[in-house]
Amino acid sequence: AAKDGGRGRYHFYADDLHAEAEERSQLEEDLRDAISNGELELYYQPVVSVASETITGFEALLRWHHKTRGPISPTKFIPIAEDTGLIVQLGEWALRQACKDVATWPEDVRVAVNVSPLQFANPQLPAMVMKAIASAGISPEQLELELTESVFLSDNEGTDAMFASLKRIGVRIALDDFGTGYSSLGYLKKAPFDKIKIDQSFVRGATEQGSRNGAIIASITNLAHALGMDTTAEGVETMDELDLVRLHGCSHVQGFIYAKPMSAKDATERLASGLQADAHGPRSARAPRQ
Ligand code: C2E
Ligand code: MG
Ligand code: MG
Ligand code: MG
Repeated sequence: AAKDGGRGRYHFYADDLHAEAEERSQLEEDLRDAISNGELELYYQPVVSVASETITGFEALLRWHHKTRGPISPTKFIPIAEDTGLIVQLGEWALRQACKDVATWPEDVRVAVNVSPLQFANPQLPAMVMKAIASAGISPEQLELELTESVFLSDNEGTDAMFASLKRIGVRIALDDFGTGYSSLGYLKKAPFDKIKIDQSFVRGATEQGSRNGAIIASITNLAHALGMDTTAEGVETMDELDLVRLHGCSHVQGFIYAKPMSAKDATERLASGLQADAHGPRSARAPRQ
């Protein structure tokens, strides 16, 4: 690549793009075999009740341990999986595994599983959910599905029907990353979510002077509770943030202040030992970023 701009710079840029496309198609190929190679794992992040300060559930988060590259972030491989349609298989694997894992925990502990727009558009989803619940032998209330606002972009009958058939199964449905999408209040009116997850971008910086985030968190919380929905504040890292979301009435908290996502085995131990046993408990300083 040339350093003298002009044509040379263009070639340099093109090479970069080429390398990126190459890496992506390599990852895509490897991702196809990740399930059968046993490279996927679910990690679990505690969801904590503000009122009782106990763990009420866990969010299941996919981890990919690539055989040569090591861990690859879901923020990198989930978009690839969505673009290629692989998310349907990955999502089914995650759903089944999460149901198996929650079956080993006390009955009042829930598991939340992320469902991508492509899965939500798949007519097989309700059958798949029912099968996962039945073969793990759990009750449907133990499973919560997390949908993002993008699912409701195509505001059509298919979306409403899918929502209704999932609710009929008896699973809970949460609206994930609330406030980051196109935030039409229309679907809040129509779709009876069980929970709204307030995106961490509102929590971040909310404690700074002059921030509008606190007012936004309070309003979302009021609205959600008026509609009979729980609220989880995502990405709470500091004691100040915890105090703030508590003050604004969030019913649940999820974030590094309590725990980072952990293996199923560690989650089981955490349930047995309780929150307070965490060395990096809520009174500690800001947890290091993952
Ligand atoms: P998400 O569903 O919003 O999950 C929350 C993300 O925030 C997780 O990132 C979690 O590790 C991170 N997080 C939690 N607490 C804190 C905190 O206090 N500070 C900071 N900085 N981050 C925190 P992760 O595990 O990297 O997952 C990223 C995204 O990938 C998820 O966002 C979700 O959209 C997607 N994803 C992960 N697993 C699955 C899956 O099984 N299926 C689908 N469709 N998507 C998944
Ligand atoms: Mg989520
Ligand atoms: Mg989220
Ligand atoms: Mg997110």
